[in-house]
Amino acid sequence: MTSKTLDLLRKYSVPGPRYTSYPTAPYFHTDFGEASWLEALATPAAGRGLSLYAHIPFCDSLCYYCGCNMVATRDYGKTTPYLAAIEREMAETAARIDGSRLAHQLHWGGGTPTYLNPDDIRRLMDTMKRHFRLTPDAEVSCEVDPRELTRAHLEALRESGFNRVSFGVQDMDPAVQQAVNRIQSAELIRQVMDWSRELGFSSINLDLIVGLPKQTVESFRRTLAQVVGWAPDRLAVFAYAHVPWLKKHQQLIRDADLPDAAARLGLQQAVNEMLGEAGYVNIGLDHFARPEDELVRAQQNKTLWRNFQGYTTHKDSDILAFGVSSISQTADVYMQNEKNLKRYQERVGQSGFAVERGIRLTRDDQIRRDAITQVMCDLELDFARFGERWNIAFADYFAEALADLRPLADDGLVELGSDRIAVTETGRIFLRNIGMCFDRYLKDAASDKPRYSRTA
Ligand code: SF4
Repeated sequence: MTSKTLDLLRKYSVPGPRYTSYPTAPYFHTDFGEASWLEALATPAAGRGLSLYAHIPFCDSLCYYCGCNMVATRDYGKTTPYLAAIEREMAETAARIDGSRLAHQLHWGGGTPTYLNPDDIRRLMDTMKRHFRLTPDAEVSCEVDPRELTRAHLEALRESGFNRVSFGVQDMDPAVQQAVNRIQSAELIRQVMDWSRELGFSSINLDLIVGLPKQTVESFRRTLAQVVGWAPDRLAVFAYAHVPWLKKHQQLIRDADLPDAAARLGLQQAVNEMLGEAGYVNIGLDHFARPEDELVRAQQNKTLWRNFQGYTTHKDSDILAFGVSSISQTADVYMQNEKNLKRYQERVGQSGFAVERGIRLTRDDQIRRDAITQVMCDLELDFARFGERWNIAFADYFAEALADLRPLADDGLVELGSDRIAVTETGRIFLRNIGMCFDRYLKDAASDKPRYSRTA
């Protein structure tokens, strides 16, 4: 680790968004209600495909680092009213969109989708297929918690048409697992990976987290060595977002146990080095894939895009998201559902929808979203090409952003030319900071800034 990079990490480790949307979720507002969402659904969307998402919020137990909308419960009976609500929401939504639109992507997240028993997995997927048309080559993926998983769950997923699975691994060190209340052995992970391969899932992703309590560079190198040995197709290595003021249960993690800036940098460097040596390509912020993976090809072809599901090849799809707290997205709208489980079910019971808040994007929002996304996906931006797409003079339109980028260029995070911006190797760690230079909301909100997790 160079002391210069460590200095940069200290300098640029500030609260900031991850930019899975722009404007970011804290700027969605309640003036955007059900009527606005129905209007968005009714808007013709020629040429735009669909990406479907279902949120299953239930988990058997609570991981202390969790940042998701989830309910830890051993009462399986809670799934019955929830599945009824999510099915109604799908039916009402499907009735309001052009039935010829095809879904290229379908994803279940949570919570823990495999909290559902195999019969309910089949039933929910049947419902989705009844209401929406999937393309034969659709990417159909599910987040899976290896604990409490049986082969029958994976068989139900496979028979229902899922072709991708993503397992939460996080960290294999016993002390870290203890500190975050998530105990899972290497034998368990090996077993679920073997089952997935036998059942013919075409892509297996493993999720890891850096920045967890008790994590050291040495212990995480051992985790990485184990993980590389399992040979997943993709890896997502997220930085732990410690926001105990938002997620009260994160108070169960002692600040003193969290790795400091030097350790976080060492962890990040271990990730880049060991995954690089194992042949994985780093795609921007937190994703790694094999060189032949379509995400890598999309990055090379400059067709990669970033949304609530991370990096994707489906830039021109609208996300229709179902379930508590889920976020839908059309070309110019974001909409988030009610975040409280009981209220979500009640509201869907009444009207078929549970819109909590949202936002209609202005043209400026769309231009800035494009700029932020392009920098985070392509790692470069050509002023002339971008300006042509939006009919703007880039350097004039983004004069303030370019001025804000100047100190980052002086620190070697970006190359700032007269006609393009390029993210440097060091700058890859600071993509969120680079994105923040284009964010008008951050500048405008002098007094009531939403509080984000640290950028690095
Ligand atoms: S399994 Fe996932 S969603 Fe559930 S508590 Fe753990 S991290 Fe959160």
